[in-house]
Amino acid sequence: MRLWDYHTHSNFCDHAIGSLEDYTQSAINLNLNQIGLTAHFPMIYLPESFHHYAMLLEDLPLYFNETNELKLKFKNEIEVLIGLEVDYFKKSFKQIKKVIKKHRGKFDYLIGSIHAIPWDGYEALPIDMRKAVPIIKKLGIDNVFLRYYEMMDELVKTGFFDIIAHFDFLKKYGLIPEKNEMIYQKILSVLDHIKKKDIIVEINTSGLRKSVKEYFPSDDIIKELIQREIPMILCSDAHTPNDVAYSFNETIVKLKKLGLTKLYQFEIQDGSFKKVPKRIL
Ligand SMILES: [Zn+2]
Ligand SMILES: [Zn+2]
Repeated sequence: MRLWDYHTHSNFCDHAIGSLEDYTQSAINLNLNQIGLTAHFPMIYLPESFHHYAMLLEDLPLYFNETNELKLKFKNEIEVLIGLEVDYFKKSFKQIKKVIKKHRGKFDYLIGSIHAIPWDGYEALPIDMRKAVPIIKKLGIDNVFLRYYEMMDELVKTGFFDIIAHFDFLKKYGLIPEKNEMIYQKILSVLDHIKKKDIIVEINTSGLRKSVKEYFPSDDIIKELIQREIPMILCSDAHTPNDVAYSFNETIVKLKKLGLTKLYQFEIQDGSFKKVPKRIL
């Protein structure tokens, strides 16, 4: 079975290495049938300390040019899909949406994610960074978890995104809620909204490469996704070309054990872009 990876980065952001072509080439070497290039959408509408995390706004045209060139250059080897990973940030979401809508037609899909939680007294909590951990502990782990899933709920309800990235990302450094049951109930209600909106949730293997050493989301949540028949895909969230399709074969074995029978794939059908279930073998 030829696989596909819909979440990869490149040197369009300063915390990833390798060109878009390097990632595409890596996917070809792995015999994938599709690669989704999904640079971080500019974060200039987030607080200033996040600006350097993504490409600049003026890089966007270059990004679309380069990704389109790769689509054509490698069309006989692999289908290149063009995407963006967009941070949901309530205060600036209108602005973000406006810029993205201006570029409609230049990309195939959008991944929604959360890397910054707004908090009084702080610009925003940078939950992707270890330095956020002592702050989160000070603010109360459960408080931050609740706020995070409230944001996730808002992200889902925008209906703007095709894929939800690293659903339980806040656990990245091993943080565990104290009132686990309460947070879990909140998670279940977010999952119900995801089901209603028919959004794809990624099984993100980057967690295996982080200190938490588990998938985003965790097995318990994956089981809930399976039970609700919420569409799922595998994503590496590669920040180096070597991590494209990271651990996908082992992950499929594991997902089958959890009861998953299909993964979703994007296909152009009758001129429109659709997600189609594929039986996993
Ligand atoms: Zn990144
Ligand atoms: Zn990413």
